[in-house]
Amino acid sequence: MPTYEYECTVCSHRFEAFQKITDAPLAKCPQCGKKVKRLISAGLGIIFKGSGFYTTDYKKSSAAASSSIASKKDKKKTAEHNTSTQKKTAQESLKTSA
Ligand SMILES: [Zn+2]
Repeated sequence: MPTYEYECTVCSHRFEAFQKITDAPLAKCPQCGKKVKRLISAGLGIIFKGSGFYTTDYKKSSAAASSSIASKKDKKKTAEHNTSTQKKTAQESLKTSA
């Protein structure tokens, strides 16, 4: 059974879930009950745990608290995507250096 990794869009809690490929993705954080996003299907043998690989679609609204370690790779992509995130990127840089 594949393992799916999820991250909460609110509290950034990460967890894995064993699901059938046909199962609907989980929607709720076990910790705070808010919305989670699925990161990557680890069932293929690829686990990006802690490697700084995750999508940032929800970061705009909620992830001031998310790990700055994990977002380094995303900064470039996000900045290209949406210049309004530049301010936040600067904030993250500060956080990183702290
Ligand atoms: Zn949560």
